[in-house]
Amino acid sequence: MIEMSDPPQGKTALVLFSGGQDSATCLAWALERFARVETLGFDYGQRHAIELTCRDRLLDGFRDLRADWAQRLGDSHTLTIPTLSEISETALTRDVAIEMGTDGLPNTFVPGRNLVFLTFAAALAYRRGILDIVGGMCETDYSGYPDCRDETIRALQRTLVLGTAKPFELHTPLMWLSKAATWRLAHDLGGAGLVDLICEHSHTCYLGERGARHHWGFGCGECPACSLRAKGWREYVARAG
Ligand code: ZN
Repeated sequence: MIEMSDPPQGKTALVLFSGGQDSATCLAWALERFARVETLGFDYGQRHAIELTCRDRLLDGFRDLRADWAQRLGDSHTLTIPTLSEISETALTRDVAIEMGTDGLPNTFVPGRNLVFLTFAAALAYRRGILDIVGGMCETDYSGYPDCRDETIRALQRTLVLGTAKPFELHTPLMWLSKAATWRLAHDLGGAGLVDLICEHSHTCYLGERGARHHWGFGCGECPACSLRAKGWREYVARAG
């Protein structure tokens, strides 16, 4: 079980919110800990803009689920960074098949994406007087992206603190959780209502498919993101039942 505590008075967090399972769980985590929570999504020319629409549906769902969450949810920001797709040849920004590269990384890897996201997040947070930034990076059950690793995030936090002279804290509550544990965390934070909301409206599929509804939500069921999400769901249900 996770520890619940009264949200610290007056503190605001900025959550990196893509509309996926992980960032939705992070949003609930932040809403339980901070007096006010703002969200930030990026439009970087990802080939399916579906996750951007999912974000709004999820935010509405969060407000409907709990009145205290509705009260704490602040501004929802979107930053457009077309430059990322200009410089990356990946399956997330180009219409090519997803496959493994010779470096052991799937070609969904956008080099440096999380470094860019977190740096922009810190710049926005700086202007808004926010020092706590929350992201769903995870190095358990992940695709091996080096910018998701804890060591990378800790090093970037140090860089941001030095580069801005502000005591930024990067929170990554999912870093050491399996995908099954992430489903459990969602249940601990928001009960069956939150798990249902995440199933129904969060989007993880790399192919942007929302045709078929599986137990774990919508997606192609085959891409690396769907595979991880489905495997985690099976383990979560097996242990919950
Ligand atoms: Zn998929």
